[in-house]
Amino acid sequence: MLTVNAYAAASPTEPLAPATVERRDLGPRDVLIEIKYCGICHTDIHWVRGDWGAKDYPVVPGHEIAGIVSQVGPEVTRHAVGERVGVGCMVNSCRECGPCQQGEEQYCIKGHILTYGSVDRDGTLTQGGYSTHVVVDQDFVLRIPEGVRLEEAAPLLCAGVTTYSPLTRWGAGPGKNVGVIGLGGLGHVAVKLAKAMGAETTVLSRTLAKKDDGLRLGADHYYATSDPATFEHLAGTFDLIVNTVSAELDVDAYLSLLAVNGTLAIVGATPKFSLDRFSLVRNQRAFAGSQIGGIRTTQQMLDFCAEHGIGAEVEVIPAEKINEAYDRVLASDVRYRFVIDASTLATAP
Ligand code: NAP
Ligand code: ZN
Ligand code: ZN
Repeated sequence: MLTVNAYAAASPTEPLAPATVERRDLGPRDVLIEIKYCGICHTDIHWVRGDWGAKDYPVVPGHEIAGIVSQVGPEVTRHAVGERVGVGCMVNSCRECGPCQQGEEQYCIKGHILTYGSVDRDGTLTQGGYSTHVVVDQDFVLRIPEGVRLEEAAPLLCAGVTTYSPLTRWGAGPGKNVGVIGLGGLGHVAVKLAKAMGAETTVLSRTLAKKDDGLRLGADHYYATSDPATFEHLAGTFDLIVNTVSAELDVDAYLSLLAVNGTLAIVGATPKFSLDRFSLVRNQRAFAGSQIGGIRTTQQMLDFCAEHGIGAEVEVIPAEKINEAYDRVLASDVRYRFVIDASTLATAP
């Protein structure tokens, strides 16, 4: 066992605080990673604060991990000491079911093991990346190509693959018109990816406050969804809209923006919504969802980002600012992802 420093939540109502966490002894196929950076995903906040029901505590959140391999088990063939690597939302799955065989481990029929908050093979609770080190099976460790800085790569491990998956699944590319709802952590990466894929890309944000940023990130157009004229102007125009917002969504209004055969894909944790069947019947529209992405897809996404010079726009913070960062994410005061510098955990607690 390796005891390492971390930041943990003891309950849904207490602020996160310095803690230690046990990492298992290196198994034959395990990789020990020295974490350099870990992104703060809005999902961490939903999880810690109990938005998604009762969870086990204490929990060390964090599933946007970037670091360096510091040790490998004797049977590890895919990674070597010194390699730049990442870990996303999953650290294991059954590997035998249909989805696992197809590289879609996030839909594992027996349930994938999340990077934090899941019961691991050894019966312990997994603990995430707000920490200095993590031990992960080699098959769930990704290569971070040269050319993407580690701090800018970290958010790609969740925000990147979560948006890359629906964009590729529903054909974002040249000649396609793609809308992204919400310019936050996921949304800003979605804009960069959609543009690099060759799609005409539009940001659908609540206001025009971040318009300059949106255009700088690569968007061709930027509209305020608080303005009813936006919905009249854009009616029937999009082939794909990806929703990254976790708040209430007027699903019918966004479906009305889809062209024939268009798809509205939900990745944000939108609460329950109502839907008029005519919104789908007209234009043969589809309403869909997508969860993170498989390991193979995650590697493809990282390679695509390196090829196109894509990284997240980050604000690197010391661990002691995690609680402040949570409040700022909840207030939509993030440009566009907080990333924890894990070296600031080295001396705590
Ligand atoms: P984020 O950085 O907080 O961005 C969310 C964006 O939503 C904000 O920047 C804001 O964009 C918009 N927004 C915030 N509050 C709103 C409100 N009250 N009404 C309308 N729009 C609002 O969050 P994130 O890290 O990108 O995560 C977004 C969601 O995706 C979370 O629910 C997270 O749990 C979920 N998620 C899902 C998956 C998956 O696998 N499906 C993976 C990762 C995350 P504007 O200011 O531009 O309007
Ligand atoms: Zn996430
Ligand atoms: Zn499986």
